[in-house]
Amino acid sequence: MQLRFVGCGDAFGSGGRSNTCFHVTGEQVNFLIDCGASSLPALKRAGIPRGDIDLILITHFHGDHFAGLPFFLLDAQFSRRTRPLIIAGPAGIETRLVQVMEALFEHSSKVKQKFELSVVALHPEQTQWFGAVGVTPYAVMHGDSGGPFLGLRVEAQGRTIAYTADTEWTETLIPLARDADLLIAEANTYDKVVRNHLSLNALEAHLAEIRPKRLILTHMSDDMLSRLNALPYTAAHDGMVVEL
Ligand SMILES: [Zn+2]
Ligand SMILES: [Zn+2]
Repeated sequence: MQLRFVGCGDAFGSGGRSNTCFHVTGEQVNFLIDCGASSLPALKRAGIPRGDIDLILITHFHGDHFAGLPFFLLDAQFSRRTRPLIIAGPAGIETRLVQVMEALFEHSSKVKQKFELSVVALHPEQTQWFGAVGVTPYAVMHGDSGGPFLGLRVEAQGRTIAYTADTEWTETLIPLARDADLLIAEANTYDKVVRNHLSLNALEAHLAEIRPKRLILTHMSDDMLSRLNALPYTAAHDGMVVEL
């Protein structure tokens, strides 16, 4: 199985990076984790056939994680996609998806797709299986409005991928990520405490409890990006591929 960082930037494109989108492929799976506003051009740049993607998991409704869906869906329609597609995300996703489609392309939510589209709500600490992909969401802390906000623990082909999504430190990150084969963790800042976001320092304080087999940092601000060469951690970059 392989995970490609199609985009690993923050909301502001720091370092010229694309918004969050990870592509996971293997013999039994082909799915995305998040689909931020700039994800369709990033998928095309990476030469990824969108028509083979079965499932898109969404962590929250911020534009840098969610607003690529209208572009993805319209592109699928115009490129005559036939494969069924499941989009799974926080409770309320059915309504939020209609709202973002209407905001960006009026009437687009009313177009009947030529392919079967299922929009599914995920609920904290309830595992749902989509084919060979098992998803256990955990509630994370990313603001007082605009939620729910989820981090994801994903099982596929005998491997576990944990993704904090955007969050300040919260104890749910421990069961979310414990002993994961790969933990993709937000490291928005180095040590500066920013509300609703995770600093590398806050994460480091708990790494011994989490014990990820592998850690890759993502969603970094300019402050973090300027320090990368001096840090003993692997940081994602757009196009990076990880074998699992
Ligand atoms: Zn974000
Ligand atoms: Zn966010």
